[in-house]
Amino acid sequence: MIELEDAAYGYGTEPLLSEIGLRLAPGSFHFLTGPSGAGKTTFLRLCYADLLPTGGSVRLFEQEAKAMSRDDIAKARQRIGVVHQDCQFLDHLPVAENIALPLTVSGRKTGQEAANLEELIGWVGLRARADALPPELSGGERQRAALARAVIMDPDVILADEPTGNVDWEMSLRLLTLLVELNKMGKTVLIATHDLALIRAAKAQVSARVLRIGGGRIHLAGADL
Ligand code: ADP
Ligand code: ADP
Repeated sequence: MIELEDAAYGYGTEPLLSEIGLRLAPGSFHFLTGPSGAGKTTFLRLCYADLLPTGGSVRLFEQEAKAMSRDDIAKARQRIGVVHQDCQFLDHLPVAENIALPLTVSGRKTGQEAANLEELIGWVGLRARADALPPELSGGERQRAALARAVIMDPDVILADEPTGNVDWEMSLRLLTLLVELNKMGKTVLIATHDLALIRAAKAQVSARVLRIGGGRIHLAGADL
């Protein structure tokens, strides 16, 4: 689905990430952990071609990111759902419309899609909040709305950046359960998090690879987690 080979990225002249090799196989579940500022968000942005590598190769669905046209990238992005760290809602639109935004933008808001939207809103437990405005939501509600928006286009891959930031433990587990359910439906999932307790909790539910990012490199984490 997504493959990085000797990939590097730097915002300036100094490389932030280098020698990054990773293959997100279909249906796999990965965690990416590491301290704040290590480059987790940057890595995710490489994975959905929001950034192009300054060295090496990033491939999305067998296509070299650097060789893709804007159109190719837009098509590939429809297959990748991203849960952004800061949620990025349009505050003047109700929650349901925010969740439906990717459909609206792609002109796919048909009757069937509207039914799927209802179902999705129920699945994340936001039926009673569908007409609320984003600023009225609790932390846990925001994260569930962000997850719903990330999966509205039925993507093959879900990349979640600290999806359990700002929520309590019970809500973290609920979000984790939703992501595990998506993986059981066959979707490839990668969660960037510094919450090691969440990773431990996940290991009881799903077979996940844990990657650690640090010093500009990505390593497979040991069994000590
Ligand atoms: P993490 O998600 O692990 O906290 P980030 O990928 O957000 O790490 O950031 C890694 C480093 O890159 C940080 O030092 C950050 O300040 C820097 N950085 C992130 N985005 C930019 C940017 N747009 N321009 C310059 N530096 C950036
Ligand atoms: P936070 O932990 O961020 O405050 P909560 O989920 O506790 O968020 O906020 C409560 C909101 O979530 C309410 O709107 C409530 O109706 C809804 N909610 C909580 N649990 C469920 C559930 N199991 N199914 C559906 N909705 C739920």
